[in-house]
Amino acid sequence: MRTKIVAGNWKMNPNRETAVALVKSIADLYAASAKDIRSTIVICPPFLYLSECKDLLKSTPLLHLGAQNCHTETKGAYTGEISAEMLASVGAEYIIIGHSERRLYFGEDAQFLNGKVKACLSAGLTPIFCCGESLKEREAKNHFEVVESQIKEALFGMSPVDFPKIILAYEPVWAIGTGLTATPEQAQEMHHFIRNLIGQQYGTDLAEKVAILYGGSCNAANANELFSQPDVDGGLIGGASLKAADFLAIINAATQNMK
Ligand code: PEP
Repeated sequence: MRTKIVAGNWKMNPNRETAVALVKSIADLYAASAKDIRSTIVICPPFLYLSECKDLLKSTPLLHLGAQNCHTETKGAYTGEISAEMLASVGAEYIIIGHSERRLYFGEDAQFLNGKVKACLSAGLTPIFCCGESLKEREAKNHFEVVESQIKEALFGMSPVDFPKIILAYEPVWAIGTGLTATPEQAQEMHHFIRNLIGQQYGTDLAEKVAILYGGSCNAANANELFSQPDVDGGLIGGASLKAADFLAIINAATQNMK
């Protein structure tokens, strides 16, 4: 059985005060229901607050810390960048790689993302690799083709030892921050497609072990139905992860759907 995973992507939203308040609220709510929670929880604050959040999470070791990005190199003259090694040194365990906002606004391509995934794995961290089609691509019925090439180009050079260390997140771009959620059927259809693709490359046993999260306007109201789909292993949550009670409701939905 695959564990359900819920990761909160805070993006460039909270200032220090709100980040501290949010992590404290999540930790308190989590502690109150921790005995019932079996899913894996990750929060991904902006880089700046990672150390402070790590300290605040000391009493809740099952709440994990992630970053929203990293560079391909371990160190060097890359002004403004942060390496996976640095993130590991402040207690991050996960890194979101290839979010559609990074692909769109920072021109990150498959080759660069491949380097980031490798950097992440070399630092002993878990990459959460995002893929997903735009509205135009879905309307043109190219969504399977787009997602297939995103995964093949960035990830299929990985060895069968490394591939299962990666978490995938299917995030249709048209659903991110728009309030438009993929229907549970659309999510399941794509997740099943992705798992088959992995199966063709690495074998079905390995494909069954890989976690594939859904992201795109997932919230407290729709999480249960999305997470009940057989190939949906949890969610990458943007907006709804900024409200502790909503995030906890999503975490509970994940636990309820662990058979
Ligand atoms: C995201 O940015 O990864 C995301 C899923 O955002 P939202 O939940 O706000 O759509």
